[in-house]
Amino acid sequence: MLSTLNDFKQYFNLTEEEIEEAKKVIDTFPVRCTEYYASLANRNNLNDPIKKTVFPTEEELKNTLSDDPFKEEGQSPIPGLTHKYPDRVLIVTTNYCPVLCRFCMRKRNWKKEPFVITKEQIDEMAKYIKVTRVRDVLISGGEPLTIPDEILEYLILKLKEIETVEIVRIGSRLPVVAPNLLTNKKIKILEKGEKVWLNTHFNHPAEVTKGSEEAVKKLLKAGIPVNNQAVLLKGINDNEETLYKLFSTLQRIKVRPYYLFRCDPVNSVFHFATSVEKGLEIMRNLKKRLSPLALPYYAVDTYKGKIILFPEGAKYSKTGKGYLFKIANTKVSLP
Ligand code: SF4
Repeated sequence: MLSTLNDFKQYFNLTEEEIEEAKKVIDTFPVRCTEYYASLANRNNLNDPIKKTVFPTEEELKNTLSDDPFKEEGQSPIPGLTHKYPDRVLIVTTNYCPVLCRFCMRKRNWKKEPFVITKEQIDEMAKYIKVTRVRDVLISGGEPLTIPDEILEYLILKLKEIETVEIVRIGSRLPVVAPNLLTNKKIKILEKGEKVWLNTHFNHPAEVTKGSEEAVKKLLKAGIPVNNQAVLLKGINDNEETLYKLFSTLQRIKVRPYYLFRCDPVNSVFHFATSVEKGLEIMRNLKKRLSPLALPYYAVDTYKGKIILFPEGAKYSKTGKGYLFKIANTKVSLP
């Protein structure tokens, strides 16, 4: 595991200037990366997408936006459980991730003491989910598939027992950053859950390797559908050719490209955002080259919910400070 700047020097071509910048950031936002993921970088490329995903820059200290613009924490009837939509809840199981992605929208959790959901918390959440007749449970983190297998099994089987719960979606980046950690035992647990889907997060074709392909194959064989939620990231994947390759490669390995999100307006993250128009232009061009099965929805997330920009073409107007979207009778502005 890489956890110091010296560790990073062994895998990436870093200039003195980059190292000096990173030193200023790591006390606020630390670094961590698996050896596997770091080994995917091309050392000769100073702008390597893997390096940009995991290596800090001073930009992280310059944003002055909210740490939690979607008010996940304000809508928690039970700590760790967010209930924003009537039929859905989000469970945050841990704040640990084997790779700390610089664009993480839950970066605020990096600063908290390490936590892992307990069986007592799961019992309390299960009671709440039963009473509120929730249909769809989203399990997230941090990286939820790093919690101990015993707790993971307890959670998955609890949710299986609840009649109203029809789908359990796990948001995991393990197939991308550490496919070796997706053990047969873990896959067996997910298979036992019967209602489990996995939403993963590939952003760049360089992340699709033999190892990640094998991990996906095992999930699919266990009856677990795999979808991908990518983020459009400045300097990492914000061009037509990269996304063409990403979406077509994902389709080849039977991962459905499900969403491409604009980068969220989160503190220390928003410097990765492109304009709304840039994403639209890329998606419109990709529509001419890819079948609908390989084309994700392009969307922005807001505290009022997701707004689909492509293919629906949600209406928005430009303001001096950014964008104004209309959802039902409400207006939402985004930078
Ligand atoms: S794996 Fe996901 S939760 Fe973890 S740091 Fe990356 S984006 Fe954030």
